[in-house]
Amino acid sequence: MDLVNGKVRVATVWLGGCSGCHMSLLDMDERLLELASRIELCASPLTDCKDFPEVDVTLVEGAVANEEHLEHIRQVREKSKVLICLGDCAVTGNVTAMRNAYGVSECLDLAYRENSAVVIGVPEGNLVVPKLLDRVMPVHEVVRVDFFLQGCPPDADAIYSLLAQLLDGNPPVSDGRRFG
Ligand code: SF4
Repeated sequence: MDLVNGKVRVATVWLGGCSGCHMSLLDMDERLLELASRIELCASPLTDCKDFPEVDVTLVEGAVANEEHLEHIRQVREKSKVLICLGDCAVTGNVTAMRNAYGVSECLDLAYRENSAVVIGVPEGNLVVPKLLDRVMPVHEVVRVDFFLQGCPPDADAIYSLLAQLLDGNPPVSDGRRFG
């Protein structure tokens, strides 16, 4: 894959995570200006586009926790040449997967009934929210992943290093497989 011709089309995605990994992207500070001259940011949590665009590189924060995430990550994989797990929730499930030790209904009861100041019950009908999956999954359990950037959140230097290597058309290789 040639990532050098023209600007590289990049997207970021926010699944089941706390947004801390996106904050780590901002921690690249002035290096963001250098990257901005080489990439076109096609989608991010701010754009909230319903149809994910065709892109070269997508960074995914968060685990796959509900049916909306499941559908979204499959579409993202189809439309991304390179998919990067950004942070431990995407890589292993991490904090998001802590609910796997409990049942979905127990978690919903805790959130919407036991710890709610105004008890409205679990949303349904017009108050619909995406249905939680029985088990939170790391991204690689659902789709193929090209690179893994570990950390909670991953270090800004590591994010920059991987992106710079991809933009230079020189992705890291280890034992015949690619790792971030
Ligand atoms: Fe938040 Fe850490 Fe998960 Fe990133 S890896 S979304 S910082 S909990």
